[in-house]
Amino acid sequence: MTYKTSLLLLVSGLWTVTTACAEPARQCPPADGVALQVLGSGGPIADDGRASTGYIVWIDGRSRVLVDAGGGTFLRFGEAEASFVDMDFVGLSHFHTDHSADFPALLKSGNFSGREEPLPVAGPGPGGPFPGLGAWLDSMLAARSGAYGYLSGYLDGSGRLVKLLQTEVAPDTEEPVRVLDGEITIDALPVPHAIVPALGYRVTVGDVSIVFASDQNGSSEAFTAFAKDATLLVMHLPIPEGATGAAIKLHARPSDVARVAREAGAGTLVLSHFMARSLADLDVNVGIVRTGFEGEVVVASDLACMPVPDQS
Ligand SMILES: [Zn+2]
Repeated sequence: MTYKTSLLLLVSGLWTVTTACAEPARQCPPADGVALQVLGSGGPIADDGRASTGYIVWIDGRSRVLVDAGGGTFLRFGEAEASFVDMDFVGLSHFHTDHSADFPALLKSGNFSGREEPLPVAGPGPGGPFPGLGAWLDSMLAARSGAYGYLSGYLDGSGRLVKLLQTEVAPDTEEPVRVLDGEITIDALPVPHAIVPALGYRVTVGDVSIVFASDQNGSSEAFTAFAKDATLLVMHLPIPEGATGAAIKLHARPSDVARVAREAGAGTLVLSHFMARSLADLDVNVGIVRTGFEGEVVVASDLACMPVPDQS
C-alpha cells in the first residue's frame, strides 16, 4: 500500500468516526513508527463535549512528547494509556487554562509512575499580564508559597520527584529555538495570539514532522515558514468565518487556517480546538478550509489517532 493510499484510508476512517460521533477507535499506539494522538479537541468552555487542548506524539509505541495539557487532558492521558515515564518532553504553548490547567494534576499522577529521569519542559517567557514558564511553575510548585507546594520536588529534584528542566522562549523571539535535541528534535516559535505569549512547536522524527500551530490568528509569515512542508500541521478552528473583534486577534478564521496550510505546503491538516461557535456550523467551516487547502483535512476528535507514515 502506498503512503498516499494508506493516508487516504486513514483519513477517511477518521472522518467517518468524527461525523458519526462514534466512540473513537482505539488505534494508538502503533507498535512501530510515529503517531499523533489528540487528547483534547475542544476549547475553554465546558459546553463542547470535548477535553481542552492536548496532544501526544507516539514513537514506536511509547508516548514521547506531550504538547499542552488543558482541562480534561488528565483523564484522556489515562484513557490513552500514555506513560509519564516514557515522556521525553512537554511543550506548553501558553498559559490559558485550556492549554495548561491539567499540568499539575499530570505531575502528581507522574509522582506514582516510577520515573527517575528529569523531564524537559518548555513554555513561553513572560509577557503582558501573563507569567513566563518559570513563574507559572513557581506559583504552583514553590515549597512555601505555591498552591501545590507539596510537589516542590519537581523544581529541585528532591523528595523522589524528578526535576523539570525548564526552557523559556521569549515572546519577542523571531527565529525558531531548538528546545530538544536528539532522536527527536523539537523547535519552538512564538505565534500571534493577541497579547498572550504563545508558542508553536515543530516535532521532527526522521523524515516526519508534526507542527502544532497552537492558538494563533494566522498572521505570522515566520510561522508559515516554520511549518514548511510539515507532514502533519495541527491548527485550531475555534471561530467561524464571520467572527470579528477580539476573536480574530486571538484566532484564525477558517480561510486563514486554509491559507497558512496552503502556503506552508502541509501534507495533512488536522483541525482541532473546536468551540460551540465553530461546531455550530462545522460543515460550513470545514468546507471553507477544504476550499482553500487542497491537501488532506482531518477533523479531530478526542483520542483520535493518526499514524504518520515515514515518507522516505
Ligand atoms: Zn489561548
